[in-house]
Amino acid sequence: MNRKTIVAANWKMNGDLSLVNAMTAALNAINIRTEQQVVICPPAPYLGALTQANQNPGVAIGGQNLSEHQSGAYTGEVSALMLKDLSVQYVIVGHSERRSMYAESSELVASKTKAALDQGLTPIVCIGESEQEREQGDTEKVLSEQLNPVLATLNSNELSGVVFAYEPVWAIGTGKTASAEMAQQTHRFIREHIAATDTQAADNVAILYGGSVNAGNYQELFAQPDIDGGLIGGASLKVEEFKKICLAE
Ligand code: PEP
Repeated sequence: MNRKTIVAANWKMNGDLSLVNAMTAALNAINIRTEQQVVICPPAPYLGALTQANQNPGVAIGGQNLSEHQSGAYTGEVSALMLKDLSVQYVIVGHSERRSMYAESSELVASKTKAALDQGLTPIVCIGESEQEREQGDTEKVLSEQLNPVLATLNSNELSGVVFAYEPVWAIGTGKTASAEMAQQTHRFIREHIAATDTQAADNVAILYGGSVNAGNYQELFAQPDIDGGLIGGASLKVEEFKKICLAE
């Protein structure tokens, strides 16, 4: 199976219109290899501007969150259809910050994943263990519990269209990265766990690594057989550094 390498930027609640302009100017000027897909996920208010400014066919735009509902009295929420309306193609679901700060359960993450797929968006479903969970030897149990509602909700076709992001919580924004070997081992476990439900989908799905990825460490991580790219926070706000990662330089 030839899976594309996905380089996804999660700006979180950072950036402004001048970053939108600087990032698109830089990325519009580069050639992204066909085996690579770049995705920029800005805060929702900048989705329209970013979509309009982006002229690189190798760059897609993504949301950072969506509602599990289609429409209605849900003040402050954004639906899959609204993202679709703005030509958004991807959406991050279940980032650890949403799981911990906004109490998003794995069941809710599964519903949001389905809502995204129903509108033809590609969900980037985040999973990952805390430092304490890893130290207690619970990593695989935690990842299985996060994956199972998604696996139970989707049919085989839908599952094949999901991108997963393994983001150990202890590596997000901390400067601590999982070693390439440790990340590969965990990605292998995730793929095998998906294969226990659906072998074909397990082969198709991209599994990104996230957690302090930067221009200095991405190559070793992305070279691992079960790591299909990265979800990048801090380094995705730095135009030159992010451009380097997109170019695979
Ligand atoms: C993230 O926000 O998904 C992330 C991985 O952040 P950072 O790269 O800053 O660790």
